[in-house]
Amino acid sequence: NYIYDLIIVGAGPIGIACALEAKKKGLTYLVIEKGTLVNSLYHYPSNMRFFSSSEKLEIDGIPFISKNPKPSKEEALEYYRRIATANKLFINLFEKVEKVTKANDIFTVNTSKKQYQAKNIVIATGFYDIPNYLNVKGENLPKVFHYYKNPHYFAGQQVIVVGASNSSVDAALEIYRKGGKVTMVIRGEAIGERVKYWVKPDIENRIAEGSIKAYYRAEITEIRTDEVDICIDKKISKTIANNFVLALTGYRPNFDFLQKLGIELLGTHKIPNYNPKTMETNVKGIYLAGVICGGLETHKWFIENSRVHAQTIISAIGNN
Ligand code: FAD
Repeated sequence: NYIYDLIIVGAGPIGIACALEAKKKGLTYLVIEKGTLVNSLYHYPSNMRFFSSSEKLEIDGIPFISKNPKPSKEEALEYYRRIATANKLFINLFEKVEKVTKANDIFTVNTSKKQYQAKNIVIATGFYDIPNYLNVKGENLPKVFHYYKNPHYFAGQQVIVVGASNSSVDAALEIYRKGGKVTMVIRGEAIGERVKYWVKPDIENRIAEGSIKAYYRAEITEIRTDEVDICIDKKISKTIANNFVLALTGYRPNFDFLQKLGIELLGTHKIPNYNPKTMETNVKGIYLAGVICGGLETHKWFIENSRVHAQTIISAIGNN
């Protein structure tokens, strides 16, 4: 059986950065991706724009040319795809890594299709696969979405958007502008502090003028086919007529997967145990790359500040 120097799990921007670096340093590698190339980006909202300017999304110094100050999703898909194809990176798509075991310092990787062996494993699986559920009655109804794509679908409909961070605010504004009647149900006191500085006044003004309705210190308590119950200040109950619920309350890494690999999760934020100097976890030979490193603090890492993980990991592996 062939033994790779490393297997990279996940072909997001950071998994691709690791593959480029491995290729450059002459290490044998394989990337295994459960969906399409840069699968998380592919599933982002159709009209989304990155909050980073294009040079901050670049990997390995390869220029990312965008005509706009902030690149679009389509431009980012073009960029990362061309990097993967032009460099002939070894990436297996639509193949899910299901289990990784270790014996005599060699890892065996079982996927939905095959089995592989490697001396090192890089986990670059991000956090976009598992939504933070509301855990309320009716959440499993087909009118409830945890991912948002396109505003057209909601034209003329009564839509509740849960949350007050970037995803919720972008969805609320887009749907309002395509003729949806939007109500925001917000747990805190205000629109989130991390909402893009050029979008924040827009949402605040739409709420102030009453074009978008917002309930603060509010939570959904039950979802039914034609209406939703909310609770304000933990005491006042209200029933709202409703066609769709967009619960955009964030996402979380697959902690089960990490724990099955033997990776410890530390503290209330479940930060995986790794050494920031090498990115190696408490399991010798397993490294973490990209936004997975933040545990529940999914806002801590993004492309700009985690693309360096590629060089750190490959030089650590090369030195062993
Ligand atoms: P991901 O891109 O999430 O890649 C992980 C990959 O692993 C996925 O393709 C997934 O399918 C795959 N995978 C998972 N489990 C398995 C498995 N078991 N087997 C095989 N493959 C698996 N960051 C910025 O820097 N700038 C921005 O402007 C920005 N805007 C954002 C906007 C939105 C709406 C969101 C949600 C995020 C944004 N981010 C931004 C964060 C950005 O998405 C991440 O920084 C980036 O995707 C992280 O890259 P990654 O490679 O670590 O993880």
